[in-house]
Amino acid sequence: MKDRPAIEGGRPRRSSLLPYGRQSIDEDDVRAVAEQLRSDFLTTGPTVERFEAAFAKAVGAKHAVAVANGTAALHLMARAAGLGTADRATTTPMTFVATSNAVLYVGAEPDFADVDPETGLLGPEAARGTLTATTRALITVDYTGQPVDYGAFKDLADERGLAWLSDAAHALGAEVGGRRVGPQADLTMFSLHPVKHVTTGEGGVVTTDREDLAARLRLLRNHGMDREAAKRFGPARAYYYEVVDLGYNYRLTDIQCALGLAQLRKLDGFLDRRQRLAARYTKELGDLDGLRVPSLRKGVRHAWHLYVVRLDLGRLRVSRDRIFEALRAENIGVQVHYIPVHLHPYYRERSRPGTVTLPHAESWYEQILTLPLYPGMTDADQDDVIEAVRKVLAWYAR
Ligand SMILES: *Cc1c(COP(=O)(O)O)cnc(C)c1O
Repeated sequence: MKDRPAIEGGRPRRSSLLPYGRQSIDEDDVRAVAEQLRSDFLTTGPTVERFEAAFAKAVGAKHAVAVANGTAALHLMARAAGLGTADRATTTPMTFVATSNAVLYVGAEPDFADVDPETGLLGPEAARGTLTATTRALITVDYTGQPVDYGAFKDLADERGLAWLSDAAHALGAEVGGRRVGPQADLTMFSLHPVKHVTTGEGGVVTTDREDLAARLRLLRNHGMDREAAKRFGPARAYYYEVVDLGYNYRLTDIQCALGLAQLRKLDGFLDRRQRLAARYTKELGDLDGLRVPSLRKGVRHAWHLYVVRLDLGRLRVSRDRIFEALRAENIGVQVHYIPVHLHPYYRERSRPGTVTLPHAESWYEQILTLPLYPGMTDADQDDVIEAVRKVLAWYAR
C-alpha cells in the first residue's frame, strides 16, 4: 500500500521546515567578527585587503575586488566592460534577475539566448544566434554551480571582440580543466549571500587577471575617487582627491571581511560536504520513476550550490506545482530556480509582445524543483528529503 502524502491527509515527514539552503556559522566566525569590532577599523581597512588576497588565491585569479553585494558586482562589471546605451549583451534567462538587471542599470539592452535542454546552461551556439552588430558583451552563468563551456565562450568572445563577463554566483570552487572558476573570463563575480558557498551577510567579489579592470572596479566602488592625484602636490594638499568618473558607495566593510576570511578557510570542507550530499541524492533518486537527476558536463567539477531535479511530467498525474506544494506540506523546503527572467512582467513589457520565446527555458521551468542542499544539513535531514520525494512521486505516479 502506498504511503499517503501530508497534502492528501497523511502525516508530514518532518515536523519543521528544512530550508533549501542556509549559512554555516561557527564559533570561529563569531570570534573573528567580535575581534574586528574591537579593532580600529569597521570599514575599508586592512581586513578588506586581506580578504581580497585570500579570495584571489582561493580561485587562482590575480585580483579580487570586494563589493557590497553580488548585484553591485554585476553592475560594476557592466560599467568596467564599457557597456552603455547603444549596446546589447547576451545572457541566459535561467538565472537570478540581477544578472540581466545589471545590463539595464547601464542603459544597455539584454538579449536572452535559450538554454541547453539537458543541463539548463547557456550554450555557445545559442548565444551566437542572438549576437547583433551592437552586441558588446556575453554574460554567462554557471547555473547551479556547474561551469558553462568556458573554452567555447572564450573563443566566441575573442572571435567577435566581445567582453566576457561570468556570473559565478553559484560556482565558487567549481573547476574547469582542473582550474577553479575565477581567472578565465574578463571579469567574474561571486555572491556572498547566506545561501551561497561562503557568506559575509551581504557581499560580492569580482575576480580578474586584468590589472586595468581591477583598478577600474576599485575606483567605481568608491565614488570614482582618485586619491593618487594627491601625490602630484606636497603635504599642503594631503587632503586632495579627484572624482574622475561617476562611481558609487559599493564598499564591503572590514566587519564583513573578517567573517569572509573565517568562512573562506572552511570553503574546501563546505565543497566536500555539498559534493557528498549531491552524490547521495543522485544515488538514491537516480532510478526513481518520474524524476531526472542533474546532468553533468565532462571535464568540470560542479560546485553544487543547487541540486535541481526535473520532473518527468509524462509519468506523473499532476503538475510541478502540485509536487512542490506536496513536498512543502511534508516540510521539505523545495524551491524553483528560476522563473525564466524573460517571463517576468517587467521584462515582458520591455520587449515587443510575443517576440521572446525560449522553448527550452520555458519547458525547463515547468519541470524543475530545487531540493535542500547546504553543508550543515545532516544525513537524517537528507533521508527526510529522499523519503518525502519517494512518497510524493509514488502517490502521483501515472
Ligand atoms: C545570488 C545571485 C546573484 C546576486 O547576488 P547578491 O549578492 O544577492 O546581490 C546574482 N546572480 C546569481 C545567479 C545569483 O544566484
